[in-house]
Amino acid sequence: MKTMKAAVVHRPMHWSVDDVPVPAVPVGGMLLRVRACGLCGSDLRTLRSGHKKITFPWILGHEICGDVVELGEGYRGAWKVGRRLSVGPLAYDPSDPQTVAGRPELATDVREIGQAWHGGLAEFIAIPREAVELGNIVSAPEGLDPEYAAVVEPASSVVHAQERAAVGLGDVVLVMGAGPIGCLHVAVARARGASKVFLADVNAERLAAAEVFEPDATLDVNSPEFATDVTRLSGGLGPSVVVTAAPSGAAQVTAVEIARKGGRVVLFGGLPHDSSTPDVDMNRVHYHNLDLIGVSIFAPRHFRTALELIADGRIPVKKLVTHRFPLAEFDTGARIALDGRALKVVFLP
Ligand SMILES: [Zn+2]
Repeated sequence: MKTMKAAVVHRPMHWSVDDVPVPAVPVGGMLLRVRACGLCGSDLRTLRSGHKKITFPWILGHEICGDVVELGEGYRGAWKVGRRLSVGPLAYDPSDPQTVAGRPELATDVREIGQAWHGGLAEFIAIPREAVELGNIVSAPEGLDPEYAAVVEPASSVVHAQERAAVGLGDVVLVMGAGPIGCLHVAVARARGASKVFLADVNAERLAAAEVFEPDATLDVNSPEFATDVTRLSGGLGPSVVVTAAPSGAAQVTAVEIARKGGRVVLFGGLPHDSSTPDVDMNRVHYHNLDLIGVSIFAPRHFRTALELIADGRIPVKKLVTHRFPLAEFDTGARIALDGRALKVVFLP
């Protein structure tokens, strides 16, 4: 039996790079030689404390760039052996009424590579038929580094969120949370034509690291002047769009308080299960005519747009991918990511 190296998670906070069998090529699917695989916030949560949809031992990784090496029986995809692909994790249910109505991201059953199927932190990955037929698989543009073609997924969710919020010309956008997702929001707001983009966080180090994304200003949320600074910087009215890109109920409360009348508040970051009912002043939402926009995951078109924006440099993932490691150094890379010392860690198996 042929074997490969894979980063196998045995239980929370326990993993090793092991020799495991190369997966069989799925019927209707394909086998990829993984060239790059990013580690994302949800992977970090799973590494730390497991995941209700995952039974260990498990191979994580859902931000994938790989080359097609074998096609399964009955394969009906568009890609041939040798093609380099950018692979996002979601596989939508083609028969769900929401999918049929054009909103596949709202289907009851959206499955994910790295959850329903083993992920890309390995030398090879089996891509299931479901992902080939209705998932997020696109040819990686010629000349785009595999590490950049791998990290399309987080940008796809951001593209989706800003489409929902109709961010555009003239908008003053405040992004709360200066992690990788907040940085992507800054870049996408610019690409969509926002006039001003401000970035706020409670952590000065994170804010400093995010400066490379060139927000018009960075703001310390805990500063006593925060609210007055935001109002002044946004011409006295407050931001027209506030994006919460942090798992923080306090950020959501502040977002509602600080948005201008008629503004949009994008709830991008999910909250911990035990604190998901923040004390939001709903009268403020009512009297100020605010739009509260909940958003998660994305549709295939957002993935394609995100890849285009990455390929032409409008989403500067070069600034996002701060650390790269061979898969053999998974432990080092994972710990740097878990300690919050990286914006984005990518492994090159
Ligand atoms: Zn991800």
